[in-house]
Amino acid sequence: MRVLVLTGAGVSAESGIPTFRGKDGYWRNLDPAKLATPEAFARDPQLVWDWYRERRQRIRNAQPNAAHEAIARLAQRTDDFLLVTQNVDDLHARAGVAQEKMVQIHGDIFVTRCSRCDFSNGDRGGSPEPPGTHVVEPTNGRLRSIAATSMQQKKIPRCPGCEAFLRPGVVWFGEQLPQSKLQRVEDFLDGGACDVVIVAGTTATFGYITDWALRGSRYGELIEVNPEETSLSRFATRLVREPAANALPRIVNELIACGGTKL
Ligand SMILES: [Zn+2]
Repeated sequence: MRVLVLTGAGVSAESGIPTFRGKDGYWRNLDPAKLATPEAFARDPQLVWDWYRERRQRIRNAQPNAAHEAIARLAQRTDDFLLVTQNVDDLHARAGVAQEKMVQIHGDIFVTRCSRCDFSNGDRGGSPEPPGTHVVEPTNGRLRSIAATSMQQKKIPRCPGCEAFLRPGVVWFGEQLPQSKLQRVEDFLDGGACDVVIVAGTTATFGYITDWALRGSRYGELIEVNPEETSLSRFATRLVREPAANALPRIVNELIACGGTKL
């Protein structure tokens, strides 16, 4: 069986990772869609880093949910498998999807890379990040708020090669997708039609997600798992209007039970 799975923020939302949409996505009354831009980083790198530091910490504290685990089970049982996730967290990996079966098309939040050159630090334990603007005073243990100052900006880690600011290794709004990752998706799609394409937890607002889902499923099943209707819904051969963590364990069990025979 040849399987392509496309996932988005809805899959991680059930692990407590806020999506960019709606009230829950706001951080300090700021719209994440405006923070996750090269312009915001150029204007106030400390503020953008503060947000990413908090997101990294939230992700470290989160656990993969039943949807991540179901996808990992499917990946392990299927030789010809690719997961393309828009999520920058590591929950798919922690659930057990091998790196060679997964493309994080919008990057990896735990990578820190140069804002100018090709330098990249993917060390998950020690990938550098600046100290936050909220620091605990060692003397009295009180939380102290420091305004972003030029002194603070000196603490933003700099590239060992070119001295430019380091930034999180994610794709911001208005930026191009990494060529090497695009190529891996194209190679998989060129490798043959899929028996099953599953699109879960994404509203498929990006054209490339829709394009990959349709190309992959041209001779096979297109299963959409989303509580709401999306632009892909009318092409789906099976619609599951449920949260991913409810639906995916059942769908994956069915696929595995089919053992590669016709669904
Ligand atoms: Zn550099």
